[in-house]
Amino acid sequence: MVTTESYAPLEGGCTCGTIRYRMEAPPLIIHGCHCTYCQCETGSAFAQNALIESSLLTSLTPTQPLFVLTPSHSGQSQTIARCPKCFIAIWSHYPGGAAIVSFVRVGTLDQPNDYQPNIHIYTSTKRDWVVLPEGIPAVEEFYDLKTYWSEESWARMEKMRPVIEEGRKKKAEEASKVPSS
Ligand SMILES: [Zn+2]
Ligand SMILES: [Zn+2]
Repeated sequence: MVTTESYAPLEGGCTCGTIRYRMEAPPLIIHGCHCTYCQCETGSAFAQNALIESSLLTSLTPTQPLFVLTPSHSGQSQTIARCPKCFIAIWSHYPGGAAIVSFVRVGTLDQPNDYQPNIHIYTSTKRDWVVLPEGIPAVEEFYDLKTYWSEESWARMEKMRPVIEEGRKKKAEEASKVPSS
């Protein structure tokens, strides 16, 4: 796995070039997600998501992405950042990590072949013809982060945790304030 020492910042973007970004640190982990939502949404067999702190995802272009609330496997929806011109999905936020963590679509990187999933998830709905590589963890549904993340990634996660918790608390408070009619 690429560590911070051996890491050269990755750049990527949409197909029309309106949105360009740079990942300032190596991905925390890369998911190969074989859930039926990712299959439908990508029109492919699985999605490849490189997780990174949103604070380490730099926009290289001035255009704001379009944030689209999209159904997801958890039932809580994910927010997908899309190019406002070509509508390519570039990254997304899941409720678990709020906007603090970005799930970058590996296929939008300039050199996507440098990265392969560190773990395959939701393999219970994997396409029959997809053969998973040997030696790469694969789980039927989701997984315990601490078991599979590298020590370095886990330390980065620990740093984000207070901010994530704060965000969750705020959201819960806001939800409780909504008057029931
Ligand atoms: Zn575009
Ligand atoms: Zn998925």
